[in-house]
Amino acid sequence: MTIQYGPYITIDLDKIEHNARTITALCGKYGIDVCGVTKVTCGMPQVAKAMLRGGVACIGESRVKNIHRLKANGVATEFTLLRIPPLSAAEDIVTSVNMSLNSELPVIQALSEAASRRGLVHNIMIMVDLGDLREGVWPDDLLPMVREVVELPGIRIGGLGTNLSCYGGVMPSEKNMNQLVEYACRIETAFGIKLRYISGGNSSSLNLIASGKMPRAVNHIRIGEGIILGRETVHRVAWPGTFQDAFLLQAEIIELKEKPSVPIGDTSEDAFGGKPEFLDRGERDRAILNIGREDVVVEGMKPVEPEISILGASSDHLIVDVTEAENVRLGSELAFFMNYGALLAAMTSEYVEKRSLRDKEIVSEYRSIVLTEILPQRAPDSDRILNIDDLTAGLNELGRSIAERRQIQGNAGIVAEAVAEIINDDVIPVVYANDPNTCLGIYHGLALSLPFFGTIILSAHGSGITAFTELPPGPGGVEPRLESERVAFIGLREVSHEESRLIRRSRISAYTLEDVDALGMREVIYRALRTSSMGTDGLHVTLDLDALDTTVAPGVHRPVRGGLSYREGHLAMEMIAKSGLIRSLAVVNYVPERDVNRSTAGTATEYVLSLFGKKILRI
Ligand SMILES: *Cc1c(COP(=O)(O)O)cnc(C)c1O
Repeated sequence: MTIQYGPYITIDLDKIEHNARTITALCGKYGIDVCGVTKVTCGMPQVAKAMLRGGVACIGESRVKNIHRLKANGVATEFTLLRIPPLSAAEDIVTSVNMSLNSELPVIQALSEAASRRGLVHNIMIMVDLGDLREGVWPDDLLPMVREVVELPGIRIGGLGTNLSCYGGVMPSEKNMNQLVEYACRIETAFGIKLRYISGGNSSSLNLIASGKMPRAVNHIRIGEGIILGRETVHRVAWPGTFQDAFLLQAEIIELKEKPSVPIGDTSEDAFGGKPEFLDRGERDRAILNIGREDVVVEGMKPVEPEISILGASSDHLIVDVTEAENVRLGSELAFFMNYGALLAAMTSEYVEKRSLRDKEIVSEYRSIVLTEILPQRAPDSDRILNIDDLTAGLNELGRSIAERRQIQGNAGIVAEAVAEIINDDVIPVVYANDPNTCLGIYHGLALSLPFFGTIILSAHGSGITAFTELPPGPGGVEPRLESERVAFIGLREVSHEESRLIRRSRISAYTLEDVDALGMREVIYRALRTSSMGTDGLHVTLDLDALDTTVAPGVHRPVRGGLSYREGHLAMEMIAKSGLIRSLAVVNYVPERDVNRSTAGTATEYVLSLFGKKILRI
């Protein structure tokens, strides 16, 4: 991962949730389910989760790849594939999505074969073209096609839908929506089937719904822009009760100078073959920002400050007039609204960083801790990974208190329940266990109780990675699944081939010991905090003592030489403490017999204290 000094988009998850709630409440009044569309965000898991919290019934996506991303990050819902599937992708589609939109019989036949082979039933929504001339069966061909489809094994017709205002700009109206309902009725009577959904379009249908003129039989709608940008799409006006700034583009001023408004010298074409024209307004304050056509569609940007205007752009430079603006300096950042096209380009560009935010002040408010011990029954004090007396005294000095001490015995499910209960009580769980496998239950508990959380894991081994990627839901597996994009492993030095593959595929951040050597612990923690905390409700830290060098922590299972130094470990703890984000902690991996003089336990105890704010190094 490289550090970004370029433009970025702030994504306010609370505003997305709010927008979704406004729109699902409106549609709900008319018995319409909203399918939340995340495609403009490339299937960003946090955006999907925010929409689901705001009440959308399922998630719609154009690309199977985005659906894979959402699933790999614990988005647990039904997925609808919005773009008509290609013939070649039938296998992937029947296994990955619950419903796909369709208009081609051969594709539906391929889906049928793929689903039957696997003993699955795939839902399809048949799209009918009501004149917009993008996808859809022509109305005359609808019944003949359905006649063939109803015979296909492995296919269920889940609905009839239409798409408007996309290619032809045809607006949804009572007339064309009544046609849609009429076609649905004909299908139902002709073939004796009941369609679960009649899907009345996209954000361009919001006006019709709000005016009460959408036919009552329409019970489904697919909304992207309405939630993401807070706009209906016929007149592109702000939708009442929604935010238009959930997504803002930010770029930095890299040059600020007073210059004339007309170029000097003979002019020909600009960098993009255009012939620019200039109005002489005399000398103006002009700023250059570090963003350009490689990142975004410049024409779709609008400065948040009305005093600022965009003059032009090349691949990497945006030139704005800031003469009337106040407080503009070299190095300051300017914010821009984006239209759908600009947002699409910026979200897709790897040059534009995506920073999700939540409004809520997170963690520092939680002062009290429940110490939770997962050890074999009647373990003597000398078998514990932490020195409880030192820990208690140290935490008290830091103004924290141990509200309770618990002993848990049992499987991952029991651990998960305990952790979830502690989190729900607004207390920080500090779980310690000699067995590193305990972490699975802890992660499960976090996933159950915190909708958005990030994880930093200090560990030598990659074995914990499967908890975030491969485990099937159900007993022993983690359900809901965790958000792998918000997980950072630090200090890895024994990773199997399979684990490396999982890391690459799942977008988990992994910092090996080599990375720590090359970048330094400060930079590694800084990056790990950024990815794991952005837009979350707090951070869980797992301290697996095998991350440390064996001279520092000899008392572990499977010790590997050459781990993090004592100082690196401390620096990590202190930087995490300073972030104020910690919401949960696990300390694992201890073999008492190997721990001469309990030095490993002593180090673990110190580390926990510095994670809660005790200063040892000066950073
Ligand atoms: C993108 C898309 C939508 C959502 O459109 P918005 O205008 O963003 O609400 C709905 N249906 C289909 C088929 C789409 O491709």
